[in-house]
Amino acid sequence: MPSPVLPRSLKIGQRRYEVKVQRHVSRTTMGEVNYTYAFIRVATHSARTGRKFRHAEVRDTFWHEVTHGILWEMGHRLYRDEKFVGRFANLLTGAIESARFARREGRSEERLGGGAR
Ligand SMILES: [Zn+2]
Repeated sequence: MPSPVLPRSLKIGQRRYEVKVQRHVSRTTMGEVNYTYAFIRVATHSARTGRKFRHAEVRDTFWHEVTHGILWEMGHRLYRDEKFVGRFANLLTGAIESARFARREGRSEERLGGGAR
């Protein structure tokens, strides 16, 4: 399922990860990264409650999984540390969503991610 809020794929180092947006990923997680098969899965709904995640939550989950992938690519010892990855990814998401670029001619201010922040 393509998503208007996420890319279809991206490269981390030399590896291109496919991004799969699905209703559920697992009962306990909102996302998953698979280093062997190079894909990232992100859920749109909670498997426990059925609640639809907000776009901001979906994007945060995506960048969380990207952060795991970057740290894995670096061979970093914290690549599976959920506390470190969670905080890092929250700050990364905030930086990306708040980024402001100079106007191109005839266009209003542009932002990445399409967030309202
Ligand atoms: Zn994680």
